[in-house]
Amino acid sequence: MRSLNNKLEELRQIAAPLESSPATRLAHFQQAGEHAERFLRSLPQRDVYAAAGPREEAVDALAIPESPEPFEEALQVLDQYVDGIGHNLGSSRFFAYIPSGGLHDSAIADYLAAVSNRYAGVGAAAPGATRLEHVMLRWLADVVGYPESAEGDLTSGGSMAALSAVVAAREANNLKSADVVSAVVYLTSHTHHTFRKALHVAGLGECVIREIPLDPNRRMDCDKLQAQILDDRNAGLRPWLIGASAGTTDTGAVDPLDRIADIAAESNVWMHVDAAYGGAFALCDEGRRRLKGLERSDSLILDPHKGFFLPCGVGVVLVREGQKLYDAYHARGVYMQDVDGDTERSPCDYSAELTRPFRALRFWLPFKVHGSQAFAAALEEKLLLTEYFYEQCGNIPGIKLGPSPDLSIVTFRLCPDAMDANVASRALLEAMLRDGRVFMTSTTIAGQFTIRMAILTYHTHLDDVDLALLAIKECAEEIF
Ligand SMILES: *Cc1c(COP(=O)(O)O)cnc(C)c1O
Repeated sequence: MRSLNNKLEELRQIAAPLESSPATRLAHFQQAGEHAERFLRSLPQRDVYAAAGPREEAVDALAIPESPEPFEEALQVLDQYVDGIGHNLGSSRFFAYIPSGGLHDSAIADYLAAVSNRYAGVGAAAPGATRLEHVMLRWLADVVGYPESAEGDLTSGGSMAALSAVVAAREANNLKSADVVSAVVYLTSHTHHTFRKALHVAGLGECVIREIPLDPNRRMDCDKLQAQILDDRNAGLRPWLIGASAGTTDTGAVDPLDRIADIAAESNVWMHVDAAYGGAFALCDEGRRRLKGLERSDSLILDPHKGFFLPCGVGVVLVREGQKLYDAYHARGVYMQDVDGDTERSPCDYSAELTRPFRALRFWLPFKVHGSQAFAAALEEKLLLTEYFYEQCGNIPGIKLGPSPDLSIVTFRLCPDAMDANVASRALLEAMLRDGRVFMTSTTIAGQFTIRMAILTYHTHLDDVDLALLAIKECAEEIF
C-alpha cells in the first residue's frame, strides 16, 4: 500500500501542470491575447500570401517535448512557423477562391465554448448549448425563407453539410443500393466538386450523373434540365436529385432557382441548393431578390465561415422537412437510456456526429453583439463593390469581362490584339502575384484561362477594390 501511495504521488506531481492554477490561467490568457493582438495589427501590412520557410526546420520546432516548455515559447513557435504563412484569409485584399473573414468575437466564442466544454451533441447533457444551436438554425431558416418544419445541423463546413443533405435525400427517397445505378442526379460543370464527393462518400457514386449545360450567364440551362428529366423518365431511369448552385465558386452564378423549383416539383425530384458561398446574401434585401426560389428547395447548405465572416469551421445544412433529416440520422446506444424521454432537441439526432464542439457559440456571439443589420449592410456593400468593380474593370485597356455578376465574383481575361488571351491572362495573374498588393486566383471556363475577383470579407472596402483595379491596370500594362 505504501509503495502504491508513493507511485501515485509521484505520478500526480508529474501530471500537476495539467491542473493550471488561477494565476497561470490568467497569465496564459493575457499572453495569448497579446499574441493575437500583435497578429491582428500586423495583418494590414502583411502580404496576402506568404511563402512557408523550410519544412524540416518547422517540423522540428513544432515537435512535442517530453518535459514542459514555457507558454511564451510555444507562442513564439506559433508566430514563426504557423501564423501568417500561406494565405492570410483575414486580409482585406484577399480576393481569391472564396474569402473568409475571421470575426474576432467568434474566436473569443471558441475560447469560451472550450472553457465551459458543454457536451453539445445531446440535449439533456447541454440544454443551454443545444437550445442556442437550435436558435441559430431556426434564425437561419427564417433568413432563407424555410418554413417551421425545417430542421438542420451545424457542421464543420460545407462539404460535411452537403454529405448530410445527400444522405437525407437518399433516405427520404428510400434509395437502396440496388436502385443506385438507375437513380439520376442533375448538376452542372460548375456544381462544386464537393457535391460529387458527398455522393461518392454516401455510397451514391454509381448514380447516373447528368451534367446539364450552362447558359451564357454560366447558370444551369433549365430547358435542357427539363428535357433531360423527361428523357430519363421515358428511358425507365429514376430522376432523383438536382444539385443546383446559389453562387458557384467559379463565377458566383446563381442558377435559376425558381424555375428549377418548378421543374423539381412537377417531376417529383429532390432539389438541393449549394448556397455555401451565396446563401449569406439572403440576409440583405438585394441579395434575397437575387436568390429568389432558394426558399422552395428541399435542402440547402450555407457556410457561415464564408459570407458571415466567421473563422473556418462552421457550415450549415437545412432540410425543408426536418423530419427527413431526423429519420436519416436518429440513432441511440443502450448506454444512452438515461437520455431517452429527454424533451430538449439533440443535435446528434440530425448529424453523423455524437460528441462535437459547441459550434453554435462562434456563430451566435458575433450576431448577438453586432446585430444582424451590421452583417446585412456589409453584404449589401459587397454587392455594390462588385458592381463597381465590374464597371471599372471593363474600362481597363485589354480587359474582357465575363457575364455581369450575380453576387460578388467577377471573372475577366486579358485579351490583347497581338497575343493569345490564355497566355496573356496567365501572365497577368502571375504579374499580380509577384506584385503582391492583392491576391486573386484563376479558373478555366470552356478551355479559357479566366481570372476571378471574389469580394467577401467584412473589411474589404472601396479603397481595397480601387487598389485591385490599379494593380490590374499596372500589371496589364507590363504585358502589353
Ligand atoms: C466552399 C464551398 C463548398 C465547400 O465547403 P467547405 O466549407 O469548404 O467544406 C461547397 N460549395 C461551394 C459553392 C463553396 O463555395
